[in-house]
Amino acid sequence: MASQETSRTLDVAGIGFGPSNLALAIALRERGREAPNAAFFERSTSFGWHRGMLIDDATMQISFLKDLVTLRDPRSSFSFLCYLQEHGRLVDFINHQILVPSRAEFHDYLAWAAARVPEAVSYGSEVIAVRPVPGDRAVDCVELVIRDVAEPGRTRTRLARNLVLATGLQPALPDGVEPSDRVWHSSDFLHRLAELPPAPERTFTVVGAGQSAAEITNHLLGTFPDARVHAVFSRYGYSVADDSPFANRIFDPAAVDDYYLASPAVRESLMRYHGNANYSVVDLDLIKEIYRRQYQEKVAGIHRLRIANVSRVRAVAPAAAGVDGVEVQIEFLPNGDVETVNSDIVIFATGYRPADPLPLLGELADFIELDDEGMLRVDRNYRVVTSEKLTCGIYLQGATEHTHGISSSLLSMTAVRSGEIAESLCADLRHSPARAVTGALRTP
Ligand SMILES: Cc1cc2nc3c(=O)[nH]c(=O)nc-3n(C[C@H](O)[C@H](O)[C@H](O)COP(=O)(O)OP(=O)(O)OC[C@H]3O[C@@H](n4cnc5c(N)ncnc54)[C@H](O)[C@@H]3O)c2cc1C
Repeated sequence: MASQETSRTLDVAGIGFGPSNLALAIALRERGREAPNAAFFERSTSFGWHRGMLIDDATMQISFLKDLVTLRDPRSSFSFLCYLQEHGRLVDFINHQILVPSRAEFHDYLAWAAARVPEAVSYGSEVIAVRPVPGDRAVDCVELVIRDVAEPGRTRTRLARNLVLATGLQPALPDGVEPSDRVWHSSDFLHRLAELPPAPERTFTVVGAGQSAAEITNHLLGTFPDARVHAVFSRYGYSVADDSPFANRIFDPAAVDDYYLASPAVRESLMRYHGNANYSVVDLDLIKEIYRRQYQEKVAGIHRLRIANVSRVRAVAPAAAGVDGVEVQIEFLPNGDVETVNSDIVIFATGYRPADPLPLLGELADFIELDDEGMLRVDRNYRVVTSEKLTCGIYLQGATEHTHGISSSLLSMTAVRSGEIAESLCADLRHSPARAVTGALRTP
């Protein structure tokens, strides 16, 4: 059953309400009287940010100053500092002398900010399709088809002059691996762990050498004193995330300009030089903690953590009849030897890939310009380049690593990027004859 939600055409429709579009909702609201008529649609039934990985003691990979607003406007009341003050922890946080809060605290901050813009978002609302609506001379409007998550057979539609896609990253499993009760992706880690019935001496296999893999390995060893963990990865050892001051500049707003202007060869070299600021790397403190734990256990004659380095998982299959668990085939890459180990649970911390915007955009894809590599062309303000036959704006938050660099899917640029998108949207709308009367963000 489909229904037209309301006849008013939105100036801006946001798809997804993670940190990126939350920051945009705030940036638009803070434009005061110029704020467009915007609504955001989020498939989760409440605000959440990587809940499956809110591991105790896990910390942020960025300074608290890279919150939703500070780099755009340090006077905003949506800053992490304002959150601390409202929760009576400002002085305590200062005395803590840290720049990186725990992930759990940052989640609480994000949820606090989201709760302050309730009129901006419809939760439990999954956008399942976007269709062009032809105008007199061009497609100047799109129709969103929105599924009610609580009642999946029910859809409604909404018209919008601009779209902002911020649908985040998608969990990536190696080819041929299917998730199951015993085979998980790291994004589900805490949810699945909570469902496990108590059992002694479990064996876990953790695949991957990035931050999530290391956090999961450390958490399992710390939480289950009699558990054994096989860590499998193709590196020789966990490698350190480069967060040193000069290298960290790759996450600066100015780096986006440089990357955007650079030739494909320079872009490629920048990603190669600085990929180790984000990809397949681990905080040094965590590496040292895992090493310390393994060494202390060795001293005591305990061997719970086994690292299969320079190795890869070749296959995962149910164990033989009558045996619990799964059989994991692990190939040692130097000589190709394959060992089969039995594991109760296998966790693939094998990363994410950006959501491809094109399937959701459906027929709109026909208007979109691609570059020589078949990638979306995106202007500096994150607006997808389209033919003149489409005047409706399509903006991307995330999925722009090929044009805007390594911070595209990260929080580092969220405040600034959402400010730039808000500015671009408002500039376009100022010149749009079809635009609705402006005002504060309205109820969707
Ligand atoms: C465990 C973990 C820790 C991280 N820590 C950091 C960190 O410390 N620092 C950092 O800079 N980055 C970090 N990242 C990177 C991460 O990508 C960003 O933190 C952040 O989540 C990006 O925000 P986003 O809003 O773009 O995407 P997301 O947070 O992924 O949000 C996207 C939202 O869109 C919704 N959605 C998707 N499709 C639809 C649809 N069709 N209709 C409606 N809603 C939809 C999803 O439900 C989701 O809520 C981390 C990532 C992970 C996995």
